[in-house]
Amino acid sequence: MEVTKRCYNCKQHKLLTDFHKSKRENDGRQTKCKDCCKEDSKDYRKNNQAYFQSWRKKHSSIIHGHLCQRWNTIRARCCNPKHKKYKFYGGRGIRNKFTSREFYDYVVDELGYDSVEGLKRLEIHRKNNSRGYEPGNIEFITKGQHIAKHKEMRKNKESAARSRKLIGD
Ligand SMILES: [Zn+2]
Ligand SMILES: [Zn+2]
Repeated sequence: MEVTKRCYNCKQHKLLTDFHKSKRENDGRQTKCKDCCKEDSKDYRKNNQAYFQSWRKKHSSIIHGHLCQRWNTIRARCCNPKHKKYKFYGGRGIRNKFTSREFYDYVVDELGYDSVEGLKRLEIHRKNNSRGYEPGNIEFITKGQHIAKHKEMRKNKESAARSRKLIGD
């Protein structure tokens, strides 16, 4: 006589070998048959995938919106003479070389930011102050780091001016 067992899920009587092994059960087999387990993991994957996709869609639209706003600010400083900071940017030849799409791709793919949380408190800094907003020249840093960088840059500029003077003498 072959040993059968009733699956608690589909209520069918099946051979013991139709159940996965389990050390926890007295008969050494799981309470749910192999077919039911397969269905479960299929459902789980499907639900999980749908959840993940909707999360990613929503999430990427949030970061996309955030970066569009920041790109608009950059563009205004560089291209709109009426912007209050234009004279420090577009007015001194600082160009924005990103389209909004390129900016988004660069920040997300190259710089690796994938959430607004990681970005919103950071300021955008141009590593080379006389170059524009372009790949390789921008980074996101905290306000404190930003102030320190500009202090450092001013100091270097002053000491460069001093040494030029010395060489001139
Ligand atoms: Zn079953
Ligand atoms: Zn800066």
